[in-house]
Amino acid sequence: MRRTKISDILKTGEVGEEYLVKGWVRTRRGSRQVNFIALNDGSVIHNLQIVADVEKFGEDLLRRATTGASLAITGKLSPSQGSGQKVEMLAEKLEVLGDCDPNAYPLQPKKHSLEFLREKAHLRFRTSTFSAIARVRHAMIFAVHNFFTSKGFVNIHTPIITASDAEGAGEMFQVTTMDLNQLPKKEDGGIDFSKDFFGKATNLTVSGQLEGELAAMGLADIYTFGPTFRAENSNTTRHLAEFWMIEPEMAFYDLNDNMDLAEEFLKYLIRYALDHCQDDLDFLSKRLLEEEKNKKAEERSMELLEKLRFVVENEFVRLTYTEAIQILKDSKPNKKKQFKYPIEGYGADLQSEHERFLVEKHFKKPVVLTDYPKEIKAFYMKLNEDHKTVRAMDVLFPQIGEIIGGSQREENYDKLLARMEEMDIPAEEMWWYLDTRRFGAVPHSGFGLGFERLMLFVTGMGNIRDVIPFPRTPKSAEF
Ligand code: ATP
Ligand code: MN
Repeated sequence: MRRTKISDILKTGEVGEEYLVKGWVRTRRGSRQVNFIALNDGSVIHNLQIVADVEKFGEDLLRRATTGASLAITGKLSPSQGSGQKVEMLAEKLEVLGDCDPNAYPLQPKKHSLEFLREKAHLRFRTSTFSAIARVRHAMIFAVHNFFTSKGFVNIHTPIITASDAEGAGEMFQVTTMDLNQLPKKEDGGIDFSKDFFGKATNLTVSGQLEGELAAMGLADIYTFGPTFRAENSNTTRHLAEFWMIEPEMAFYDLNDNMDLAEEFLKYLIRYALDHCQDDLDFLSKRLLEEEKNKKAEERSMELLEKLRFVVENEFVRLTYTEAIQILKDSKPNKKKQFKYPIEGYGADLQSEHERFLVEKHFKKPVVLTDYPKEIKAFYMKLNEDHKTVRAMDVLFPQIGEIIGGSQREENYDKLLARMEEMDIPAEEMWWYLDTRRFGAVPHSGFGLGFERLMLFVTGMGNIRDVIPFPRTPKSAEF
């Protein structure tokens, strides 16, 4: 008999029919006569209740069906007498595929802390929380490709190893095959990277944007969706050293077109989750309520599904950085010195506490901030007429702060070159990027969505380490 997934059994299984299921035991309980085994195979948040007759299978066999053990069971589907499920399976055949020593197995049929499970990341896929997150993550990956495909965008794989620093922030992991104990030196004592694998210094990419722009200058609408690496030593709940980023880049788009696309994109993704991940989101919503039940009312977040619907149904507020600074400067927490970084005026780099104040307290809606001072943004952003600000846009979300960063790009060759010189970006090495401004340059725009920031929002999880299967953070690269 062929194996049927539990998700299919619960959806379309017919009472009285016989099925074969395989999965892992979540719990087993029972009496002398009958055992109830909750079996999960990862296809859906719900378990299938297996009813096993003790006399039929013998206590020795059933005793091996401990939490974590894997089983294959053939049986008839029957209406369930118990509460909590509509159907259950009356076992006819039961085979233990893999035993699981209950004294050694770290996952018990009780609530484990997220911190504990992070140390058991090799096993946490077997918990309800992490299997739900993994399924939602998959649905979001699919939705990203769906959205752009429906709009005629072309997916471009940009390089993971690069010689350029797209952000000019210098937070990069070097890539080398040189022997670190015997580095070849130049006459001036510096390291001779011409002896390295690529003949120059290389690193893991911090963004696919620069190469994405090259593709957009021929294909018009492209997007990347790839791993991104930042050696920033910020141990926050929103930063990973290795994360996934989606970066669309569009020829002929100005900043307004860019904002429209970003808003439509985020709403599409969240609606997709609401439409396709109901069971998992219900579970995650309950998890969040449980986690926050001891918090004071004003510290609790909005109920998960309500929060997701709220974003889908409301227009994002759009305002300039300068307007935002004014609001923040006059705000209560600023006057009462409650911000860790007080806002004195124009020029301040906004911290997550400021972003969240604007979104959660002031506007109570997602916010798009535009036209930041050029000093705090990347070299490639288009300079405004005031020569002070650039056409940048950050999308700010409740709970997260910045979820998207983007801009209209500087397409004027001379202005771009001047910005690169001002900011010490080596123009000779970026000749290929500058070339696009020499040969048929057009206005264009793009943005980057941090995929795990989206996942934080959609799942209501509080720590970015819990929405990627194998987090990479400072001093942590186990598994
Ligand atoms: P932040 O100020 O939060 O560090 P950033 O300004 O460095 O963000 P960008 O360079 O604009 O971010 O990158 C685009 C997007 O990538 C961000 O909006 C965010 O969603 C995501 N992102 C940036 N850094 C990280 C990180 N270390 N881990 C996870 N996601 C990140
Ligand atoms: Mn950053």
